[in-house]
Amino acid sequence: MARVISICNQKGGVGKTTTAVNLGAYLALSGKRVLLVDFDPQANASSALGSNPLKTEKSVYHGILRYYEPQELVRPSVLYNLHFVPAAPHLAGAMVELVGLPEREYFLRKFVNHLRHNYDYILIDLAPSLSLLTVNGLVASDEVLIPVQAEYYSLEGIGQLLDTINLIRDNLGHDLKVMGALITMFDERERLSREVARELREHFPHTVFEAAIPKSVALAEAPSFAKPVVLHRPDSAGALAYRRLAEEILSREAVSRAPVSEVGNFNVKL
Ligand code: ADP
Ligand code: MG
Repeated sequence: MARVISICNQKGGVGKTTTAVNLGAYLALSGKRVLLVDFDPQANASSALGSNPLKTEKSVYHGILRYYEPQELVRPSVLYNLHFVPAAPHLAGAMVELVGLPEREYFLRKFVNHLRHNYDYILIDLAPSLSLLTVNGLVASDEVLIPVQAEYYSLEGIGQLLDTINLIRDNLGHDLKVMGALITMFDERERLSREVARELREHFPHTVFEAAIPKSVALAEAPSFAKPVVLHRPDSAGALAYRRLAEEILSREAVSRAPVSEVGNFNVKL
């Protein structure tokens, strides 16, 4: 049964899609069965995995409105264990259609629940907004991973995002967990970058992943080759950072599943 993780931040350009694609790729390479659901009308994750959004006839939009069976929308990727459900621009129109429908927050959840048993991880790449589409993404997820760009202003929207998560928890009765924040586009040489990272590590009320993603040309280039970075420049600093993130997530999972006596060895404070 998959862990469903949405990648969410209402700011654009902070590394959500890059994280969804490359974390998905490394989890898949470690032997996990991974599904990436592109739930952004801009469909960047779909193009990064080689699909052309303008030619996509069956997309997640058709899935949530049940034009097709969920399984019919799943596509293979260049990596064996990594599948994806593409988005297309008309997903933006789904907002208008959903608004008047009952249980409008639950459409993606119902779609994802049909696919859950086939995967170990389902990653949902969300749009840069706190719209009904994003609420659908969060309601469909068990956990949310928040990429935070190591830049001025990037901490400003985080409180609002955590408030939204709390609203979903309180009003929709959905136990959504914050998996952690991920520092992206980190540049060790820049004082500002270091300060933002330090602020986040000191004040963010949940986990901040130890792995921080550096600014990396290889990460920015890889989508133009329609490949995850591991197939483009696996030795680049950006690739290694996403590999570390995947390892961190997998080792945390191992700890949380270990018997209590073993957990004790990791010095976990209760
Ligand atoms: P979002 O999905 O949050 O809008 P993206 O993942 O699409 O953000 O990233 C925005 C832009 O920055 C893209 O052009 C992407 O290739 C680039 N980018 C993302 N992460 C990095 C990074 N660590 N280093 C350099 N460029 C990056
Ligand atoms: Mg994106």
